[in-house]
Amino acid sequence: MPEATSDHNGLLNVLGISSRELESLLKFVDVRLCAEGCDNTLRHAEHWAEANDVGWPRLSDGLAESGAYCDCEIVANLASFFDAA
Ligand SMILES: [Zn+2]
Repeated sequence: MPEATSDHNGLLNVLGISSRELESLLKFVDVRLCAEGCDNTLRHAEHWAEANDVGWPRLSDGLAESGAYCDCEIVANLASFFDAA
């Protein structure tokens, strides 16, 4: 795992969003996963980015760099960074 994702601030830096936005993203994706499940894409995260005026190319690159290649991996891999903060 890249050094940049070894802590909470590093993760936010990679994703290019604020701590508050990360919390919002995790909640949004979690709710959508419960309702619709994961289709092995980042479509829920992309909807969040559109709804919150966050640039998707940067965020999707950051998510991939953080080991989140689909929506359920966002919750699985990134929630721990958030809880640890
Ligand atoms: Zn998934």
